[in-house]
Amino acid sequence: MDLGIAGKWALVCAASKGLGFGCAQALVAEGVNVVINARTAGPLQQAAEKLRATAADWARASGQKPPQVIAVACDITTPEGRAAVGGPGVNVDILVNNAGGPPPGDFRDWQRDQWMAAVDANMLTPIELIKAVVDGMAARGFGRIVNITSSAVKAPIDILGLSNGARSGLTGFIAGLARSELAAKGITMNNLLPGKFDTDRLQATFVGGAAKTGQTPEAFRASQQALVPAQRFGTAAEFGAICAFLCSQQAGYVNGQNILADGGLYPGTF
Ligand code: NAP
Repeated sequence: MDLGIAGKWALVCAASKGLGFGCAQALVAEGVNVVINARTAGPLQQAAEKLRATAADWARASGQKPPQVIAVACDITTPEGRAAVGGPGVNVDILVNNAGGPPPGDFRDWQRDQWMAAVDANMLTPIELIKAVVDGMAARGFGRIVNITSSAVKAPIDILGLSNGARSGLTGFIAGLARSELAAKGITMNNLLPGKFDTDRLQATFVGGAAKTGQTPEAFRASQQALVPAQRFGTAAEFGAICAFLCSQQAGYVNGQNILADGGLYPGTF
């Protein structure tokens, strides 16, 4: 299916690897130009090269010129970082909000600084970026905003209190804004909720979990996988494909939703 978004510009945050990279790659594979960012320049440039190879594949298959890939090394959770991703001066048609997740822990240990860092990264940064691009989207009559949040919004995990709190704040904000006057201007805003996806972040949580339970990381990983009805972890490519569909012309009537991708792990009917 042609998603009808070739030639559009996307800003995909936190995209040198993992879920953000999966989203960027799926968009480039549809002929979308991308601005990607991450803090560490080396892996970001490597990611940009991979995306340029995908862009070349798309160009060969479509007979059109390849989509552009611009990489901006910066911390998206800072005002300077958000200004830097605006530097290339493109009209953003698609915004994929993403950043690292807050650390796990015991809420008794978290002070105001830890809370503000989580709220900055996982609630206020996406809101600031939406503020920066949404009026341009409205003027052009097309906009797609996808926020990468977490299955923890639907099924909170006790040790992830910083994430549960900050991401739920964003979820509530999006629920209101998605249904504002912007909906009639061709703009959709949806949240994409990953369950267990096989990324470096997931692997890092296994190391922590193994240390706590006295298992090897491999044994802990296997025990976590066994919990998922699909009996496997998701891939960044699968996640990216869902994101690309939410950004498509065809998804223009999907708005204000929380789309869970977790291999069936969440046990509820709704
Ligand atoms: P990952 O594989 O560790 O990748 C994180 C990416 O974000 C990297 O490219 C990293 O590059 C970049 N990044 C992190 N902090 C950044 C910042 N402040 N500014 C710019 N770029 C930044 O993580 P992931 O698994 O894809 O997770 C992505 C998000 O989904 C996280 O918020 C995570 O909590 C959430 N999530 C993931 C899962 C899962 O199963 N994987 C499940 C639920 C929720 P640099 O380090 O170089 O900046």
